[in-house]
Parts: sequence; C-alpha cells; structure tokens
Amino acid sequence: NKHHRVALISGANKGIGRATAEQLAALGMTVLIGARDPHRGGETAAAIRAEGGDAHPITLDVTDPATIEAAASWIDERFGHLDVLVNNAAITGSGQVSPQDAVDQIPSTVDLDMVRAVFETNVFGVIALTNALLPLLRRSPAPRIVNVSSGGGSLTIMSNPEGPMTALPASAAYSPSKTALNALTVQYANELRKDGILVNAAAPGYVATDINNHSGVLTPAQGATVVVHLATLPADGPTAGFFDANGPMPW
Ligand code: NDP
Repeated sequence: NKHHRVALISGANKGIGRATAEQLAALGMTVLIGARDPHRGGETAAAIRAEGGDAHPITLDVTDPATIEAAASWIDERFGHLDVLVNNAAITGSGQVSPQDAVDQIPSTVDLDMVRAVFETNVFGVIALTNALLPLLRRSPAPRIVNVSSGGGSLTIMSNPEGPMTALPASAAYSPSKTALNALTVQYANELRKDGILVNAAAPGYVATDINNHSGVLTPAQGATVVVHLATLPADGPTAGFFDANGPMPW
C-alpha cells in the first residue's frame, strides 16, 4: 500500500501559492488548495485537475479559526493525515498594493491597526493553522512544513545600509512580520526536530504577483521552486533553516 502524499497550501488560489500547488501536483501529490474565496479555490483546483493533477479546494482564511477547524476536520475525514503544510498566505499592508502601501509601512507614522492586521495573517495565522494541522502531520512518515518568508524578513539584509533592500522604504509591518515568521520557524523546528518534522523558511525572491502589482522579476513558477524543494526534503534534509533558490539565506 503506497503512502499517498497530501499537501495543503494556504493562499493557493493565485501567485506563488498556486505555482507551488501546481508543482507539487506534478510530483504526484494530492494538493489541497487553501483559499478564502471557495469559488477561486475551486477554479484553481479544476485547472490543476485538467492538467492531470489531483487537487481539491479547501475554504481557508488563516485569520478565521472556524475555517481552520473545518479544514482540519475535512482533511482528517478524507485522508486521515497530512504530509506537507505550506504556510504561504500573507498580506503586505492595507490590502491592494500601491505606492501608498509602502508609505503606509513607514514606522514613525504607521497605523497600529494595520500592523495588527498584517501580523494576524502573516504570523498568528501561521501558528493557528500549524497547530490545528500538527496532529495530522504527525501521522505522515515524512512531514514537512514550509513557511513562505521574504528577504525582507532578514535582519542581516535589512540592517545592511549598503544592502539590496535600501531602495525600499522602512517597514513596520510586512518586514517585521516575516522576521517574526522566521523566528517562529526556528522555534517550531526545535520543538519538532525529535519527531522528524522538518520546518524551514523559504524566500521566493522578487516574484511578479498581485502582492507587488506584478513589479517582480521572477515568475511564480520560479519563486515556487525553493518552496517545493523544502516541501520535498529527504529525511536527512535541513530543519530550522532559511533558504532561497541559491541556498541558505542570512537570518
Ligand atoms: P499574492 O497576493 O498573489 O497571493 C497571496 C495569497 O494569500 C492569496 O491567495 C491571498 O488570497 C492569500 N491570503 C491573504 N490573506 C489570507 C488569509 N487571511 N487567509 C488565507 N489566505 C490569504 O502574493 P504572492 O503569491 O506574491 O505571495 C505568496 C507568499 O510569498 C507570501 O507569503 C508573500 O509574503 C511571499 N513573498 C512574495 C514575494 C514576491 O515578490 N511576490 C517576495 C517575498 C515573499 P486572496 O486571493 O483571497 O487575496
């Protein structure tokens, strides 16, 4: 009886999450398309099935505990386990990205409610979803958790005055949320190391998606490759790491 590998990707209806789902499906995994809008999740799942993959939409808003509980119950009933969790869903700030969105991030004038909303999705949502799914991940022979982070979460990169990020306005919301996600990645990895659950953070690079009004230079498929790599690590693969497509990233 061959073990049937199942992956859940949050925010998989578009962008890097969708490309991750497409690539994991092409590797033969069953992919669960987490989406806050069931209609758009259904469209993505149907498109992957049309390409020969096994995909199912799953209604999931990482800030809504009811959808998290319902998703965990459905996966339990339908599959009884989960092999891969990709915490991909995130927001940058006030919603639709615009030049104003970057200005809204500036620390000295930031709206604290916006910071709270960003952390609710990008950090607290990851804790809530991960904890709801850990019982199912523990039933996998090779559980993997990938937290989709950002170079903007790297304190080493962000504190370098000559670094590549100096062109960006300072950020009190999105960048710190990814730094917190990186910290959580290490803490989860340390707790779960003894259980063989590998937990790593991925930096997809600057990818053309809605989150940056398609100003990115990489395709979603290119951004997803490091996520897929970390989702399919062998048993002796790394844990508590932070990687982009070229290898380890500085914290
Ligand atoms: P997109 O905006 O294209 O996709 C974001 C996804 O997250 C969407 O599916 C969105 O759903 C979903 N989402 C947002 N909030 C929630 C929520 N509360 N619950 C569930 N889903 C939610 O952006 P990307 O594909 O670019 O981003 C994917 C990840 O990659 C993010 O973690 C981002 O921070 C990271 N990243 C992206 C970079 C880039 O250059 N693009 C660079 C570095 C990191 P909906 O469609 O309903 O809004």
